[in-house]
Amino acid sequence: MVEYQEIWNNVRDQLKKNLAPQTFDQTFGEVKKVIRQENGIIYVSTPSSYSRRLINNIYYKTVHEILKDITNENLRFKFISEDEIEKEKKPQLIKQLTKTDLNPNYTFESFVVGDSNRMAYLTSLKVAENPGVVYNPLYIFGGVGLGKTHLMQAIGNYILEQNLNTKILYVQANDYLSDYTRALRDKNLAGFEEKYENIDVLLIDDIQMLTDKTQTQQQFFKLFNELDNNNKQIIITSDRPAAKLNGFMDRLTSRFEKGGVVDINHPDFNQRVSILKKKSQELSQVPISDEIINYIAENFTDNVRELEGALNRILIYSEMYSNMPLNLSLAKEALDVVLKNKVVNPEKNYDDVLSVVASWYSITVADILGSSRNAKYALPRQIIMYILKTRYHLTYNKIGNILNGRDHTTVMSGCTKISNEIKTNDELKMAIEAILKKV
Ligand code: ADP
Ligand code: MG
Repeated sequence: MVEYQEIWNNVRDQLKKNLAPQTFDQTFGEVKKVIRQENGIIYVSTPSSYSRRLINNIYYKTVHEILKDITNENLRFKFISEDEIEKEKKPQLIKQLTKTDLNPNYTFESFVVGDSNRMAYLTSLKVAENPGVVYNPLYIFGGVGLGKTHLMQAIGNYILEQNLNTKILYVQANDYLSDYTRALRDKNLAGFEEKYENIDVLLIDDIQMLTDKTQTQQQFFKLFNELDNNNKQIIITSDRPAAKLNGFMDRLTSRFEKGGVVDINHPDFNQRVSILKKKSQELSQVPISDEIINYIAENFTDNVRELEGALNRILIYSEMYSNMPLNLSLAKEALDVVLKNKVVNPEKNYDDVLSVVASWYSITVADILGSSRNAKYALPRQIIMYILKTRYHLTYNKIGNILNGRDHTTVMSGCTKISNEIKTNDELKMAIEAILKKV
């Protein structure tokens, strides 16, 4: 550490020589201390986030040119303000004290609110402030990568911050399932129940994973009632509304609906821009131009995870080509391959259609492609035909091929059937609209 402190001292001395005394004092006067070193990044503390921004925006290049003159090692400075250091410490402290599985970065502060998630956000905040009181359970549903896990864990982190003694258990539904299976195998049901009942808050993520797992659902039903009767907060996430959880016991899904139910939708353009701005401030030293931000927001519309991926890719790329300015053309180059794959490989999108519809109806893609004419499979299959026709304008032949070589007349009658049926069947219409949002 001393060594890194010395490096910064040398850089700082050099800056002092290069800059006007007043400028130096204002900008670097209080920027003295190296706080840690990690993977070649030297973290230097700044008195305020204003000072951090100033350095990053105006002096970042100068600082690194001096650094390169001083050492041959591949090092980089990262400036971090004192209040950020404090913030960083807090979740770590929580983590040490309570050993939860919560991700400390999933907080309300880091969650960008917009039309797509405002209700979900506000309701979650209420639950966080009054766990076990206002809405029990809280049921959050929505598509992949839209922030369900983030929001659920933000509630957990918030409750924990208020009271470090709260016992919060975060579990993915499929881990709950394997935990239970193991308990049965090892004849240790008592230990299993103890683990899950002896808590204050249960966060169970992606509940749809328990589809058709009747025995586990029964066990979960017991746990649910036990916690609910004791006013312990339960938070559930799912990829669909409770009523659409096929392969679930009714008494369970009706319990899911009795507290607060909120959904998260796709972020619109403005919200995508806000999310990118926030993430880029968190991730990058140098500000990313609006031009680049808009470009990402225009081209990556599916979900937030995808936005993050695109941004990360640009940052990695710009690090690799650090001799070039991070401008729109470099950004486009970085995303070129990803975007090409999106367009040139349309088969992938049809796979999406297949899997989204299959999962909506709790069947598999193999069922869709199979030959059974059971209504359980035939309807989802016809919905796929309809979507491929109306949204993607494929030929009946092509659709037939995608659906494992079905005849074009079968496809035609499937499409006609659905387009007639949605005129009178609101439920079907809503299901298709929801599916369309996801593909
Ligand atoms: P889900 O559980 O719905 O699949 P996640 O909660 O895992 O989605 O979110 C995917 C990624 O996107 C995470 O890194 C999360 O932090 C981020 N994210 C999602 N929604 C938001 C938001 N509104 N603001 C900031 N980050 C978000
Ligand atoms: Mg999730």
